[in-house]
Amino acid sequence: MEEKVVCGIIGYIGRQPVLPVLLDGLRRLEYRGYDSAGVALLEDDGLRYVRAVGNLQNLKREAGDASSTATTGLGHTRWATHGGVTVANAHPLAAEEVESLAVVLNGIVENYRELRESLVERGHVFTSETDAETVTHLIEEHYDGDLLEAVRLAYGELEGHFAFVAIHRDHPGQLVGARLQCPMVIGLAEGETFLASNAAAFLRETRDVQFPEDGDVVSIDAAGVAVVRADTGELVERETMTLDWDDEGAEKGGFETFMLKEIYEQPLAVAETIGDRVRKGRLQLEGLGMDDDELRHLRRIVILAAGTAYHAGVAGRYAIEEWARVPVEHDIASEWIYRNPVLDHDTLVIGISQSGETRDTIEAMKLAREMGAHTVAITNMMGSQITREVDSVLYTRCGVEMAVAASKTFTGQLSLLFLVALKLAQVRETLPIEELTFILDALYKLPDKIQ
Ligand code: GLU
Repeated sequence: MEEKVVCGIIGYIGRQPVLPVLLDGLRRLEYRGYDSAGVALLEDDGLRYVRAVGNLQNLKREAGDASSTATTGLGHTRWATHGGVTVANAHPLAAEEVESLAVVLNGIVENYRELRESLVERGHVFTSETDAETVTHLIEEHYDGDLLEAVRLAYGELEGHFAFVAIHRDHPGQLVGARLQCPMVIGLAEGETFLASNAAAFLRETRDVQFPEDGDVVSIDAAGVAVVRADTGELVERETMTLDWDDEGAEKGGFETFMLKEIYEQPLAVAETIGDRVRKGRLQLEGLGMDDDELRHLRRIVILAAGTAYHAGVAGRYAIEEWARVPVEHDIASEWIYRNPVLDHDTLVIGISQSGETRDTIEAMKLAREMGAHTVAITNMMGSQITREVDSVLYTRCGVEMAVAASKTFTGQLSLLFLVALKLAQVRETLPIEELTFILDALYKLPDKIQ
């Protein structure tokens, strides 16, 4: 599975009326599927919630045309894992003092049962059946005027894989969130800040982003973001990156489905991915992070992935063995970690993950790195978790892939694996120059041929 959660979070602080921003953001995350949706708006007289079962039309109807002047708010599309599909279980989930504090959460709180029991013992009254509501009550319990600190302390008690964001009546212009093994991204614009589960939610507004890491607690306001580590409270800086995606990626652009659109985008995905990596018959693959000497001394390659990316690896193996004469093993990441793998310093381990958030592949890459192999990630997501767990990164440049079933990113991964095979063949002199040139030339013409 690419990602464990399929639903969406969007938070916004700025100068625009927040309701349309949230609804538009949710619409852009809609492709992932959901069964209910909701928003929390920070109005002058406190928090206002709108929640509905079913699609966003229902939420819009529920929100009505009641004018809202709020410029801080949170939105969520839920895919129920704990508790039925009801309005009471839809997020944002409020604490017992309904007006003061609410939380939206993606993913699962694994230890919610123990937490819930002890919270109930201490007098908390739950209004939903969800695992997520435990987070609301924990934050409430730790809160004494500092929302960031309350979230930080609550985070320390949570187990599972999730991303959540809290909004508080007494903190207009602030949202505080944290993540553990689920994606979260901050969008930075002039005088406005976004926080979402996927950059697609705000791509039309900004492409300047920061990716919080597991264990980061982030606090956003209209001016930007502050990040502290959950365990120590220490202030840290995360790099701001500019996504090279265009906003059109997140729109269907006349096609009936994202899937169809992305199938048609394959020539572009291949052209961009190969791009300037092939120059006058020379291959530039700095992303491999290995010099010619290291490439010559490589004795084995292991390719680890899951789902569609795994199949790219299976196909890539043919090219690498055929052209570069290096033995390649491929495995499903979740299988590989549990079989006490054999690795050494002469092995290159390639992990492939479109989203860069595939849990099993990330764990496998961590293990490979610990065991002393050189690790390289192939991913389409700048700044994703996998990029932080490996020695170097090769990016496919496919733009946003919205369809859950992969198409253009598969083709992009394959093109990159071909380049890796050819680079190795070039350095190790396992292919006659004419043949190498012929293949490079063919790759260069591939986008046209696909078209
Ligand atoms: N586990 C949460 C719930 O069932 C959130 C599920 C989600 O939408 O990711 O409410």
